[in-house]
Amino acid sequence: MKTIRVHAFGGPEAMCLEENADPTPQAGQVVVKVHAAGVNPVDTYIRSGLYASLPPLPYTPGLDAAGVVVAVGEGVRSVSVGDRVYVGGSLSGTYAEKTVCSEPQVHPLPAPVSFAQGAGVNVPYGAAYHALFHRAHTVPGETVLVHGASGGVGIAAVQWARNAGMRVIGTGGTEEGRQLVLAQGAHFVLDHHAPDHMERVLALTDGKGADVILEMLANINLGQDLGALAENGRVVVVGSRGPVSIDPRDIMRRNASVTGMLLLTASPRELLSIHAAIAAGLENNTLRPFVGREVPLSEAARAHREIMESSALGKIVLIP
Ligand code: NAP
Repeated sequence: MKTIRVHAFGGPEAMCLEENADPTPQAGQVVVKVHAAGVNPVDTYIRSGLYASLPPLPYTPGLDAAGVVVAVGEGVRSVSVGDRVYVGGSLSGTYAEKTVCSEPQVHPLPAPVSFAQGAGVNVPYGAAYHALFHRAHTVPGETVLVHGASGGVGIAAVQWARNAGMRVIGTGGTEEGRQLVLAQGAHFVLDHHAPDHMERVLALTDGKGADVILEMLANINLGQDLGALAENGRVVVVGSRGPVSIDPRDIMRRNASVTGMLLLTASPRELLSIHAAIAAGLENNTLRPFVGREVPLSEAARAHREIMESSALGKIVLIP
């Protein structure tokens, strides 16, 4: 089978397309034929060797995929050969024609959801749910600012929040991205490159501020976020690519809090509730992953450049 391998951490060109033997499942494992693999920013951090926890070399990148079960190991009960599934993490990496998962990493993919959409489920919807509900404890009626709403996590957050009865303000860096955010359910959309956009957040909330801010780029925005938070407001740092300067009095005077979150360290109990909520949303069509770009597996390096360098428009997925 064709698989992407990384033999030394480095730039996008560190990923090579190789021919490897087909995997066979051990007890408790599932082999999935990958129809689409999701590309996430964390894949690029790991590939570059700069992430806190790194796999032993060589390795195959990728946490997300969707496809069909082609083999199951002894003792596997929850899925059978032929089932359509999305995967949430993988033992062997998902940038390949086949991937080996432990049984709990494999989840049913309802028929109306395409494989490309299924590849955009796990990290984006998991991170957005974890941030909104497990970390910020957002409740219906609150105003949520999704600061960076045009990408994978942002669109998922807009859908979760809108479905749950929150007032949603999303931001995008391009007109196309902003239109997409509105189409995905945001009540209002702002341009995060406009210098006055946080003043607009205050204007949209009658000067009260947002109850919850999901922040995709804290190193740019955290200082300003704190000035646009409501009393008892919460900022969840979902993404950050460097240090930032803040005025702690902005937190103090609002009885506010700033919290971080890392999906990779969600507890088994939290993961259970994340995937149960995803199952319900995919079944009743209230969660609709948006795929902006499909890229051949052989061009994984291009996908890594694009996710870091170009404007977001939903998910980028690889097609083996
Ligand atoms: P993505 O698809 O590449 O989207 C990136 C988003 O950031 C886009 O909406 C982009 O908007 C926006 N952005 C760019 N400049 C911005 C600015 N100045 N202010 C606000 N937003 C800005 O990435 P993703 O998968 O959604 O992930 C988003 C971030 O969350 C990444 O940093 C990722 O590493 C992190 N993340 C963390 C976890 C976790 O467990 N903590 C899990 C998943 C992702 P435009 O392109 O329209 O400008």
